[in-house]
Amino acid sequence: MELIIPEYYNRFRCIAAACPDSCCKEWAVDVDAASAARYRALPGELGDRLRDLLHDTPDGTVMTIENGRCPMWREDGLCRIQAELGHDALCQVCQTFPRLRHDYGDFVELGLELSCPEAARLILTSEDTITLQTLPGGEDGDYDTDAMHTLRRSREEFLAYLSTAENLPNALAVLLLYAYDVQSELDGGEAAILDPQHSLEQAQKFAKPGNMADIFRFFGTLEILTPQWKTILEGGPALLRWDPRLKYFLTYLIRRYWLQAVSDYDLVGRVKFCITACLMLGAIAGDTQETAQLFSKEIENDPDNVDAILDGAYREPALADILLLGLLLL
Ligand code: SF4
Repeated sequence: MELIIPEYYNRFRCIAAACPDSCCKEWAVDVDAASAARYRALPGELGDRLRDLLHDTPDGTVMTIENGRCPMWREDGLCRIQAELGHDALCQVCQTFPRLRHDYGDFVELGLELSCPEAARLILTSEDTITLQTLPGGEDGDYDTDAMHTLRRSREEFLAYLSTAENLPNALAVLLLYAYDVQSELDGGEAAILDPQHSLEQAQKFAKPGNMADIFRFFGTLEILTPQWKTILEGGPALLRWDPRLKYFLTYLIRRYWLQAVSDYDLVGRVKFCITACLMLGAIAGDTQETAQLFSKEIENDPDNVDAILDGAYREPALADILLLGLLLL
């Protein structure tokens, strides 16, 4: 089995009490069945507290949120379960966060979630360096082999181009047109060829003036977790600015979402999600790392929001291709 690991993955260390946000804020943590059973069987005051806090829903057990945070989060920023029972007593979500694992059977891709501030710092300051490891075992790939071959080849081709691209808006415009060519290959057409110069010329012909305020309004119709995000959306867009860290943000998005198109053959929707995410970060005033982390918390960690944007890629007028190209190029 092949293991694909970004270089920063093994450098991640939770900064715990020094964390400016914490994964224990705002989220109702899903507690896996084995951990929930263990917590409910604990004797003493901690057991009593956990029995009060664990709440069964039709989708599983969740930890109740109190005052906007997990009640196990202590004043010193540490987790009470970890402090009293050890790391192995944490539920699966808390043990693994922010580590990501996409298992395709014969290969596994590891990554970090941008919604963790320390992971965001690493992701937004690290070159796209990947290590490959071959491990014994694994299964047969549970996917369409031809489609996966196309997706893996095209992803690496685009990332190689992106790593040397000097103008991010131009690279994003090239990305959109390339995605249509790769989509055509996925749908049985000719092999896609990345030709940035030609794509850029085509994109410049298609581009029509877009409106970031309309995209902000669309995001305002999605589920909102924090008051901070609501305020940002209601405040509307600032002038677009292209912080160099957005290139690393785009790399992270492409690594995370591109291959997922093997599940439903929708690459264009995912690429439009990536482009829209870059435009949003470019149009939000403030520190890019904090904004990226908040974006991830609000959007990536809410599957309903991700689905709404993938759907919006085809239905939402503000996300029309020609308008996205206009925002990038005009
Ligand atoms: S968000 Fe990240 S750095 Fe902060 S407490 Fe959680 S895992 Fe640690």
